[in-house]
Amino acid sequence: MAEMGRAAVFTGVGKPFEPREWPLPDPEPGGLVASILLTNVCGSDLHLWRGDLDLARIGLTYGIILGHEMVGRVARLGRGLEEDSLGRPLAEGDRIVYPYFVPCGKCRACLRGDGHACLMSWGSAVRSADEPPHFVGGFATHYVLSPRQRVFKVPEALSDHEVAGANCALAQVIHGLSKARVDLGDTVVVQGAGGLGLYACAVAREMGAGRVIAIDAVPARLALARQFGADQVVDVAATEPRDRIGAVREATGGWGADVVVEVAGFPEVVPEGLKMLGRGGRYVEIGNISARRTYLADPSILVAGNLTVFGVSLYDPTALHRALEFLARTRERWPFARIFSHTFPLAQIDRAFAEADFLARDEKSVTRAAIAPGGA
Ligand SMILES: [Zn+2]
Ligand SMILES: [Zn+2]
Repeated sequence: MAEMGRAAVFTGVGKPFEPREWPLPDPEPGGLVASILLTNVCGSDLHLWRGDLDLARIGLTYGIILGHEMVGRVARLGRGLEEDSLGRPLAEGDRIVYPYFVPCGKCRACLRGDGHACLMSWGSAVRSADEPPHFVGGFATHYVLSPRQRVFKVPEALSDHEVAGANCALAQVIHGLSKARVDLGDTVVVQGAGGLGLYACAVAREMGAGRVIAIDAVPARLALARQFGADQVVDVAATEPRDRIGAVREATGGWGADVVVEVAGFPEVVPEGLKMLGRGGRYVEIGNISARRTYLADPSILVAGNLTVFGVSLYDPTALHRALEFLARTRERWPFARIFSHTFPLAQIDRAFAEADFLARDEKSVTRAAIAPGGA
């Protein structure tokens, strides 16, 4: 009998995950089937689970498999796939990560090398679990890679927990800060010191920022931001927007920040962040993923300041590779282990989400719960 794989399928807001199983498919030539070691419950998984993003409204009425911050092992190699995307020999059992989305390869974004901007990339992360190859998300025992997905072997020194976070939060932050060309001595402001914000502090530091300023409403997060490289923190709960903009101006001798990264996920922080920028400054927008939440804008700020805004969804595959190298190189320097909390088996995914939701809402924690499908 064919080997079976299992998944926890999300069928709608407020419903328990549905356990399902299917026979494991054979990989396409050039693709592979991975067995999943660990998948984090990411903030965007929580958004979908809570209904902040209404999938039915955008026409997605089927069951999907959430989870994308994952790490796995090669279970079955497709014909012709002998190396990872850096040309290193790839064999069954090797630990791997891979972008969790599949660009079409044929649209204008793909043709210019921006596969992360392809419409199919986003859609591929919320494919129907009902249709083959079924295993298209992280909360499952397996994941099926298309030949169009890149794959990278994982350095042995890194733990599964460290690596899982590379595949969304860290890669996206690296991609965003690279787009904004953080330069030697720059002042970088990080709006929001959750998981992405902490990574952003450390990455900005490693890219040569001269000063990193983190902003958040939770003192425990601000304390952690200092451990991740922030020289200065600003408590939202104790300040008004005017004070926060003033603090950034003061720290930069009146000039303003070179780069501001938005990873707070609140629309109203955007005009505030734009006002923190110095002339020619760059704004990186990552956190606001929920549609129809708006802010009042004064576009003359963009014009007068010669500002540039980068919207960043997903990431370039090189960012994932660089995330692994970054972790291996700096894991002694930054307390990455502080970002992770409990690990649950796949059968307890409802509990894992409830706990992650509680941590995010009430404790305002930065920690991520994770699912280890192999442990169920
Ligand atoms: Zn495309
Ligand atoms: Zn994520």
